Order: sequence, then C-alpha cells, then structure tokens
Amino acid sequence: MRLTFLGTSAGSPTPERNVTALALALDESRNWYLVDCGEGTQHRLLKSCYTLSGLKCIFITHVHGDHMYGLPGLISSASMQGRKEPLTVVAPEGVESFVRHSLECAAVTDLPFELSFIASDCDDFYFKDDVFEVTAHELSHRVPCFAYRFQEAPKKGPLNQEKLQSLGVPKGPLWGKLQAGNSIILDDGQVVSAEDARLADEKGRVAIIGGDNDKPELLLEAMKGADVLVHEATFTEPVFAKVGPQYMHSTAEMVTTAAEKAGIASVILTHFSGRYRRESPNEQFTLAALRAEAESVYKGQVELAEDFGCWELTSDRTLNRI
Ligand SMILES: [Zn+2]
Repeated sequence: MRLTFLGTSAGSPTPERNVTALALALDESRNWYLVDCGEGTQHRLLKSCYTLSGLKCIFITHVHGDHMYGLPGLISSASMQGRKEPLTVVAPEGVESFVRHSLECAAVTDLPFELSFIASDCDDFYFKDDVFEVTAHELSHRVPCFAYRFQEAPKKGPLNQEKLQSLGVPKGPLWGKLQAGNSIILDDGQVVSAEDARLADEKGRVAIIGGDNDKPELLLEAMKGADVLVHEATFTEPVFAKVGPQYMHSTAEMVTTAAEKAGIASVILTHFSGRYRRESPNEQFTLAALRAEAESVYKGQVELAEDFGCWELTSDRTLNRI
C-alpha cells in the first residue's frame, strides 16, 4: 500500500508545501484514491506518478477550503482529458453543493462522465470496492470532519499443499482449478472445494487517514488492528499554548499520545502550520521540534510527511519511505 503526500501544509500553502491532499494506491497499481483535494492538487499530481484517468474515487474529510478547493479544477481537467469512467466523491455535507455550484458558475454543464457523491456524514456510511473497504470516523473540528479507515480486501490464502497431498490430489491442472476458485471431484467421488483447499485468508493492510481534529483519542477504536495512522499535527505544544485551542487542531504530542495508547505501529504526521520549516533560525519552528515532541511520548515509528514524500506499507506491515 502506497501513501504519497501531495500537500502537507495547514490552512494555506508555503513555498515548500501545498495544502492537504494524499494519493493512496495499492503498491504499483495505476489505480489510486485521493484523500482531500486542497487548491492546486491537480498541479501537484502532474509531478507524481498518478493520472486523473487512474483516479478511482475521492474522499474528502471536511468542507474547509484547504481540503477541497481543488475539486472543481481537478474535475474540470478530468473532463477536458475526456474521462469517461464515472467518478465518485465521498464527502460530508456541503462538498457536493460547493462542487456543483462551482462547475455551474464556470459553465461546465456537460461532464463526459457521471459525477456522484456519497455522504460520509450519515450513520450507515460504508464504501467497498474490489480494493478497499472504507469506514468513516467522526472527529472533532470546527465543522463536521471525518477520518477514513482504508482496509485492504483480504488476500486469498495460498493452497494448503499438505492437505492436498494427504487427499491425494495430484499436482497439475487440478491444483490450477482449485487456485482459480473452482471445486474438483476426485476419482473416488470426493468433492474438494476451493475453500477446503486453501489456507486462511490473509488480512489486508489498514491505513487510517484523518482530517483536522483536536481529539485524536476519538480514533482509539478505529486504530485497533490498523497499521498506520496519518494525522494532522498542526502545532507543537509550546506553540499551541500561545495560539490557543480555538482552531481545534492537534499537536504532535496529542496525536502520538493517542497512538501510543492504541498501540498502533506507525504514525505519519502532516498538515503542519506554515511556521514550521525544515530549517529555521528559531529551533521551536523546525520539523525536528515536531519529531522530538512526537518521539517523547510514542515508542512506534514516527514519520513527518512532506510534499511528494511516498511511504510504502509492505505486506509484512513495515512502513518504508520510498
Ligand atoms: Zn486543514
């Protein structure tokens, strides 16, 4: 599973960072999913390996501009490129209205593909396709905001070779039939189904991608069985103390305290306030300060997102920067 950050700045862009967007894909697949779409995301995409034609679905965490102003432009460009595949946007209330009005005001009336919306702010929200099963988890922010939990579809277990040998199923075409999901009948009339012939399915990888939130502990339940949490860490504690809680964002310490409690193996922090730089004469405004704060409370793996940074969650559940 690959997570590629297309924007990692809170609120407004900086010379180094664009506003929030993340591309999620399964390994080297050309099909991908977009989570949040800040202004300029389509331009970021041009410098990534992903294309609008490979985009399967868009998930928006909340209605704030730094997470969705990029939608009308991205959808218009997909139209100009002649996309025919239907496009679904999963989002809370307000996003559909913004997109449809923007397109209407810009006289985009004849999209060559079907554009549909699924409300994520309803009790029975559930999304499933052949790649992911997605649930939405309500967060605490100034407007309704959600984290999406992406669970990869389980991988079919491999053939149970020992069992097949003990049943006397000869290697060859019969194994191929079982592998393809078919049942077979042995010479003695015994039926062996594909399910009987396989080891247990392998659980898929799980990534949680959060929106803006000042209560990361709301994700404790969702983090059970998950491999990586992507969460905003807009501030460090000392800056948060000066700014105040009114913007309803998290600090690195708040996120990693919840992650430590949940026992999740890795966290990628993102959505940093524009004051934080890789290098700054004032040490409290460096990415190192965010990292140090996170590592002071969390024993797991801490990563700090940067634009175009790509992390791979391997099938053995290790998270590597690639
Ligand atoms: Zn934001």
